[in-house]
Amino acid sequence: MNIELEQKLFAKYPELLKNLVYIESDDGWFNLLDKAFQELNQFDGLRLVQVKSKFAALRIYYLPIAMEANNTYTYEDVDNIVGKYEQMSKTACEACGRPGKGVSCGGWLMTLCTDDFEIWQQRHAGE
Ligand SMILES: [Zn+2]
Repeated sequence: MNIELEQKLFAKYPELLKNLVYIESDDGWFNLLDKAFQELNQFDGLRLVQVKSKFAALRIYYLPIAMEANNTYTYEDVDNIVGKYEQMSKTACEACGRPGKGVSCGGWLMTLCTDDFEIWQQRHAGE
């Protein structure tokens, strides 16, 4: 992800992203990530450890939830939100955010719109 966009997310969700080093996703998912982080931010003490694109879908991994007496949420609560955005990512182009679908880019699965898939194919033509 573009460093400026990435820094925006790190600045907006400092606690949630405290344990995260970088975001392994293209710029097209910025808005999707922003919304996902906004929802996940409601869970006090939740820390994400990895955010990436894998098999054409957004994956969000988090540290085990501290099972303290004052914990007001469960794994199910977090997984419901993570799962919802994983589903949404499957139809959002990773490059530009417009509607897209899962395509194979040299064996690597990505979600791309028709235009960005064409650009990818042109760039890698003859490889
Ligand atoms: Zn696109």
